[in-house]
Amino acid sequence: MQMSEAGAPIPMVAPAPRHSRQARVVWGDKVITVGGDAPVRVQSMTNTDTADVKATVMQVRQLALAGSEFVRITVNTPEAAAAVPEIRERLDRMGEFVPLVGDFHYNGHRLLTDFPECARTLSKYRINPGNVGKGDKHDKQFAQMIEAALRWDKPVRIGVNWGSLDQDLLTGLMDENGTRAQPWDARQVMYEALVRSAISSARRAEELGMNGDQVILSCKVSGVQDLIAVYRALAKRCDYALHLGLTEAGMGAKGIVASTAAMAMLLQEGIGDTIRVSLTPKPGEPRTQEVLVATEILQSLGLRAFAPSVTACPGCGRTTSTTFQELAKQIDDYLRAQMPLWRTRYPGVEKLRVAVMGCIVNGPGESKHADIGISLPGTGEAPAAPVYIDGQKATTLRGEHIATEFQQLVQDYVERRYGLAAGAT
Ligand code: SF4
Repeated sequence: MQMSEAGAPIPMVAPAPRHSRQARVVWGDKVITVGGDAPVRVQSMTNTDTADVKATVMQVRQLALAGSEFVRITVNTPEAAAAVPEIRERLDRMGEFVPLVGDFHYNGHRLLTDFPECARTLSKYRINPGNVGKGDKHDKQFAQMIEAALRWDKPVRIGVNWGSLDQDLLTGLMDENGTRAQPWDARQVMYEALVRSAISSARRAEELGMNGDQVILSCKVSGVQDLIAVYRALAKRCDYALHLGLTEAGMGAKGIVASTAAMAMLLQEGIGDTIRVSLTPKPGEPRTQEVLVATEILQSLGLRAFAPSVTACPGCGRTTSTTFQELAKQIDDYLRAQMPLWRTRYPGVEKLRVAVMGCIVNGPGESKHADIGISLPGTGEAPAAPVYIDGQKATTLRGEHIATEFQQLVQDYVERRYGLAAGAT
C-alpha cells in the first residue's frame, strides 16, 4: 500500500475538559474546591484504628505531606467518633490543615447524632447507600446522615461500592430485567444498579435540603472495564462532582497498573474530579505509596504537577555498573524529600524536569530536553559525565563524587530559577 505524505500537522491531545459542578470542602478558614475547574484532587485513607489518636494523627500527617489533599478516616465505633475532635486538634496544632473525611457504614446516623463534635470537626462525610440500613430503616437513617450534613454545613460523598450494593435495588432491577424481551447481561444490570443507587441517593439528599453542589458521587468497582463503563454512564447522566477510584485494586504492580489503566482512560475523557488509589500495602510498605501513585497518574497525564519529574532511561547492556541506577534513585529520593520545604520556598519547582541518563546514545539529547540533565558514561566511554542546563552543556563531572556534585548543581539551579520567583535570595 502506498503511504501518503503528511498534509497537516498531527493533532496534539490533552485531557478533555470536565463539566461537573463544584463542591467546597471547608475547614476553619481553609477552603478546598472539588469539581468544576478545580484541579483534580488527591485523596487517601488511613489504615489505623481511628480510636488510636496518636497513630492516626501520625499517618494523616504522612499522607498529607506526601501530597494527599483529603484524608479519609474510618468512623465505625463510639470510640473512633470520640477520637475525631482530638485528632483534628492535634493536626491543627502541628499546622496540618488537611481536611478529614469520615467514612461511615451501618451506624453513621447514630454516631453523627451522638457525637456532635465529631460531626462538626469532620470536613466531609462519606455515606454508602448500601450500608445505611435495610428496609424501612434505609430512608430514615440516610435522612439522619443528611440532616447532620445540613446541620454542620458539610458536603457528602455518596459512595456506592459493588461489594456493598443496595440488594433491594439490585433485586428489583433483576426482576425488571426478567420482563424484557431481550434481557440485559447480568453485568449491565449491575452497572445500572450502581449508577441508579448513586444518582437516586443524591437526588434524595437534594430533596432533603442539600445543595447539589455539596454532593460528590462515586461508584467503585474492582474491574478496569467495569469502572470505565460505570463512570461513563454516571458522567452522562448527572453533573455532580465525581470521586474516582478502582476499589480493592490489590497489591504492588497489579494494583498500580489496574488503577492507572482505568483512571487514566476516564481522566483523559474529562471524567473524575478527585481520585484515590486503593492499594493494599505490602508488609512494611508505607501507606503513602497510594498517594505517590495518585500524584504520578495526574502528573503523567499533564493534569497537575506535584514534584519535579526525573526522566531516566531503563539502562541496558551499555550500563554495566549500578552507578547509573543509584544516581537516578538518589536524585529522585532527594527531590521528593525536598518537596515539603521547596513547595513553599520555590513556587513552581514542581514543574522542574531532571534527566539522568545512562550513556551517550540518548543521554545528551534527553538531557538537553530537560531543565537539568546528566549523561553518565556507559561501558567503554570516557569516565566523564556531561551536565546540561537549559539545553546547554554546562560542565562535566568526573570521579567518585558525581552524585553529590550533581545534586548540588540541581539545588543551585532550583535556587537560581525558583528562588528568584519567590523573592528569596
Ligand atoms: S541511553 Fe544508553 S544506557 Fe540508557 S537505555 Fe539508551 S542505550 Fe542504554
